[in-house]
Amino acid sequence: MGKYLSRLKQDLRVQEGLKACMNCGVCTAICPAAEFYKYDPRIIIETVQSDNDEEIEKLLKSDTIWYCGECMSCKTRCPRGNTVGLIISGLRQLSQELGFFVESEKGRQQFAIKRTIGQCILDLGYCVHASIVAPRLHPEQGPIWEWVYQNQESIFNKLGGNNFGKVGEGALAKHDDETMEELRNIFKVTGGIDFFNDIEKHSKRKAKEMGLGFKEEGIDNEYFTHVFTYNSNEHNK
Ligand code: SF4
Ligand code: SF4
Repeated sequence: MGKYLSRLKQDLRVQEGLKACMNCGVCTAICPAAEFYKYDPRIIIETVQSDNDEEIEKLLKSDTIWYCGECMSCKTRCPRGNTVGLIISGLRQLSQELGFFVESEKGRQQFAIKRTIGQCILDLGYCVHASIVAPRLHPEQGPIWEWVYQNQESIFNKLGGNNFGKVGEGALAKHDDETMEELRNIFKVTGGIDFFNDIEKHSKRKAKEMGLGFKEEGIDNEYFTHVFTYNSNEHNK
């Protein structure tokens, strides 16, 4: 067995999914991502089943594995009860572990997700907190959001997000130190921190290769702006 398939098969989700699939293509027919993107879940499974290292490496370095919306609609229609979305999760994980994700436009966006959502979880305990939705990164939010963002404390307190930014009860309240310590420990023991560090390490390497400025923290750097805003417009059918 090739090096990539044997590694992928250590993941129970992938192992079971590959065994169950009979390549009928029903998942492709109902997949919402396949409707718009250059994306075919059946072909992805076939590629992995082929055990061809060269082809699997190409897949792991491609945009293809990042088009899946993880909606799990495939599970509802597959005659074998298979869930392609879970196989895709396994492929994404391997792509990140090996640093292959930085070789594709959509894969590189993992860095933006880590520096925004990932960092927000570690700093504030929220996946998304109003205080990190900076208007300059989200022009689609319009001028009203800009105004809300600039006056966030008083506005969210009025809207029921009481204790905004302070420890206490409330939808956008700050978590106490003990809770945050526990949350960070969960990330430490489950490998989440190592995973984030890998994303950082490989992104830094890629930024250097692309000649783009990189900073160890925050979102004010050329590489972040590039992965957050660039779109080749070559993803749709
Ligand atoms: S619908 Fe199920 S069996 Fe058919 S190709 Fe997709 S995963 Fe395989
Ligand atoms: S989980 Fe992914 S592969 Fe499955 S239907 Fe949704 S977008 Fe398609």
